[in-house]
Amino acid sequence: MVEEAISLQARPWQQLVQADKNNRLSHAYIMDGLQGTGKMRLTLTFIQYLLCEQRAGELPCQICSACRRIENGNHPNIWMIRKEGQSIKKEQIDELIQQMSKKGYEKGRRFYMIEEAHTMTVSAANALLKFLEEPVGEITAFLMTDTYAQLLPTIQSRCQRIQFTRPNEEQLIGQLVADYQLTDSLASTLSRITANVDEALSLSQEEQFMMMRKLALQLIERIEHSKAEAILFIQGEWQSVVKEKEDLEMILNLLLHGYRDIVTIKVNIDRSICYPDARELLEKLSYRLTYEQLSSKIDEILHMKQKISSNMNRTLLVEQLILRL
Ligand SMILES: [Zn+2]
Repeated sequence: MVEEAISLQARPWQQLVQADKNNRLSHAYIMDGLQGTGKMRLTLTFIQYLLCEQRAGELPCQICSACRRIENGNHPNIWMIRKEGQSIKKEQIDELIQQMSKKGYEKGRRFYMIEEAHTMTVSAANALLKFLEEPVGEITAFLMTDTYAQLLPTIQSRCQRIQFTRPNEEQLIGQLVADYQLTDSLASTLSRITANVDEALSLSQEEQFMMMRKLALQLIERIEHSKAEAILFIQGEWQSVVKEKEDLEMILNLLLHGYRDIVTIKVNIDRSICYPDARELLEKLSYRLTYEQLSSKIDEILHMKQKISSNMNRTLLVEQLILRL
């Protein structure tokens, strides 16, 4: 498990271990990588490495009491924050600061981890910022995110960024087709959504995901045919499939990959596309749409993705998007 986590992300691991060896451990890191790239696993392994009672070379032993308690999620020196509802609230950061200022922990460094750190509210981020500016004691923070750009620049500048690479897409597609008998088309789409085999497999069995994949392609076709038709379309079947915020995020991702496919086809580069089964449609659109149009469409979708953390009406949001595309 440990060896696997490290071999998948050898560069981030070396960066962290070197910092420790040179006594230059930062007081805050941003662990920046897509879902499924093993950020959490690697971070926990690194904390094990730092607290291990009988470290074996550059690896934590995995059997001492410190290693085991970290693995089981009950080491007192680690504080973990996850979003509550849609965001990470200021009260959660206040509680964190209080915890970190307490005495009576086990000796050695203390850590806190913030999952999906980009979902911090502005007041939460500002409270954290103050804490980052005046570090107390031996504390190291790990802020996890898959959308680095959404973190406040002031937070970004106080932390060291560790970038996680995504495993080779072709490799994942090959594995899904050969070992799990998925179609090439589905495997190609899944490889864009996640880098994790298990997550890809579980999505492939979700009817909801398959519906969304279909809807995304149909929506592209309609948008490029007639916007009025596209708006009617999302008032129909669409609404029973795209219900939660997560659904909307997923379908915007699927839409985004559709437009990226059109660019790939237009540039004619030798790269696999997300929807090989829709190549004919995408090719047709690649003749009609200019690079400027495509890049502005991609920008609009990215912009909309950032807006959906608010509590706006989802259908209305997509209607606005369609009008802008
Ligand atoms: Zn150990």
